[in-house]
Amino acid sequence: MIGPFWHFVRMLLERRGAVALAIVCATISAASMGSGLVVLGPILEIVLGEARGLAEVVQAFFAQHQSWAPPSAILDVLPTTPRGSLAFLLGGLAVLTVIGASANFLHQYFSVTLCAGVVARVRQEAFDRSLRLPLATVVARGPAEYTSRILRDAGDLQTGLSTLVGKMLAQLLKGVAAFAAAIWFDWRLTLFALLVGPVVAIILRKAGKRIRRGIRGSLEAQQGLLRVAGESLHGLRTVKAMGAEEQMATRFGRLNQEAYRQEMRARLARALASPLIEMIAIVVAAGLAYLAGVQILDGHARFEDFVLAMGSLAAMGSSLRPVAVFINELSAANAPSARLLEILHAPAESEGDRHRSDAPAFRHSIDLVDVSIRYPGATVDAVDRFSLSLRAGEHLAIVGPNGCGKSTVLAGLARLIPLAGGTLSVDGVDLQGTSLSSWRRQLAMVAQEPFLMAGSIEENIRLGRPNATRAEIVEAAKRAHAMEFILRLPGGLDAEVSELGSSLSGGQRQRIAIARAALVSPALLLMDEATSQVDAESEVEIAAAIREIGQGRTVVTVAHRFASVVSADRIVVMDHGAVLDVGTHEELLARCDLYARLARAQFMAAG
Ligand code: ADP
Repeated sequence: MIGPFWHFVRMLLERRGAVALAIVCATISAASMGSGLVVLGPILEIVLGEARGLAEVVQAFFAQHQSWAPPSAILDVLPTTPRGSLAFLLGGLAVLTVIGASANFLHQYFSVTLCAGVVARVRQEAFDRSLRLPLATVVARGPAEYTSRILRDAGDLQTGLSTLVGKMLAQLLKGVAAFAAAIWFDWRLTLFALLVGPVVAIILRKAGKRIRRGIRGSLEAQQGLLRVAGESLHGLRTVKAMGAEEQMATRFGRLNQEAYRQEMRARLARALASPLIEMIAIVVAAGLAYLAGVQILDGHARFEDFVLAMGSLAAMGSSLRPVAVFINELSAANAPSARLLEILHAPAESEGDRHRSDAPAFRHSIDLVDVSIRYPGATVDAVDRFSLSLRAGEHLAIVGPNGCGKSTVLAGLARLIPLAGGTLSVDGVDLQGTSLSSWRRQLAMVAQEPFLMAGSIEENIRLGRPNATRAEIVEAAKRAHAMEFILRLPGGLDAEVSELGSSLSGGQRQRIAIARAALVSPALLLMDEATSQVDAESEVEIAAAIREIGQGRTVVTVAHRFASVVSADRIVVMDHGAVLDVGTHEELLARCDLYARLARAQFMAAG
């Protein structure tokens, strides 16, 4: 039970005010139940004719206990007739019930507020943290899995917390209240009856273990049965041809016997446990009845106290019974809590950025020297000793066969993935040890599958610069050659992306992403062209947009299209994660076989 879950319980306890209110309300609710039980005492006394009225009962009580006597003013208002007393006491019970129910509601209210509040905070923190984790960590787990994990685990955490603060607290306090009432009526009997508790607990535990083992064994055996039966009937042709029916039947028989044995074990343990407990309960009750009987006969105890003590004990039992289930629920909250903690405590990629110097402002050159990049879990480097020097203002195209590491080079340039080896330096300064954010601010990336979020086109373009004006957005969209098709959309810049759905073509999406990049006006533009076909119109527009936006900037394009290749200043041919050759289209056509092959297969065919 103790475990990661308690980290979040501690978080909940930090909200002291609400916790105190929840506890106070739960206590009032339980106390009203306990007082209700106690009030049954005088009611019985009066109904049985042992006292004429409530005033007499109260007086007798204080006389017997020789403690302070209540002021006569109070005794004077208490009813003295049986009927009046009954009405008074039952009225009191009703008031207690209303108080208890209201306190119960308030307890639930505070507990829900507390739990939902903590869980909302955990969700937010986990999501914030996920955004700041290294890209590879999230990608390795699968982004969809990641988010659904967070939401599901947070839900399970909430169940655990509300079990603890809502249900468990209430039931425990009710158990205590009922116990106090039982003690009030007859403390000797109560303590004797409590001896049963541990005995029953031991039996339940032993039986529980047997039942669980039996059920597990029986499930395993049944899975075996399913397998053997399936195999035999699937391979019936072979079984028959080989005359192996008998053999298969024996195999099935062995498992069948085991399934039977295990099931018997579980069912017998279950069947034995409850009569055993009943038997103990009856023996104990008989013992109690004997003790009580002797006491009552000797005039040391009263019958109604015995009955009420037993009733209170029964109330205590039913209050505490669900607690075992709650404990299971609490320990079930440990696994989701551990996963949430793992995310919450995972180091953010920018951890320590505050203590790092800024990356230099890119003015002259970017140098990759022997850069290697390996994805987590991979056995080979996706990029392997890749070296390249980029001059400011240059337009570079990277080409190469699928999977040779082109996109990974872009990710390395943006420092989305840490380098496993080699250096990435800007104007002669190694970026290792400089802050990630200061470098990423200088670049923009157009991804292969442009990421569009639910929201208007304008919001989507604004992503990199939240406070850009409408005019700046229009300007960026124009330069990305996107304004023309945007104006044709219903609503123009205000058109909702999610409502447009698939009516945006791949090329249009890409141009929105280019407008987004244009808006940040980066020194370095990284462009990962879509591998899928883009309509001819978009292709021309995209090339024109890149030319226009790329003026005075450094552009690295992972190129799949002829237009992008021929407009580049230099083309890098990559193979197996490394640079194979660098040159212009003509140079490479003449001397690089791989390039010539790629050109024939990809660019020329399309272009
Ligand atoms: P390209 O862009 O040239 O098609 P990539 O850079 O996408 O190639 O991939 C290079 C290599 O790295 C490939 O072998 C690919 O399977 C592998 N790879 C890419 N992304 C991941 C990833 N997230 N996890 C593991 N391996 C990856």
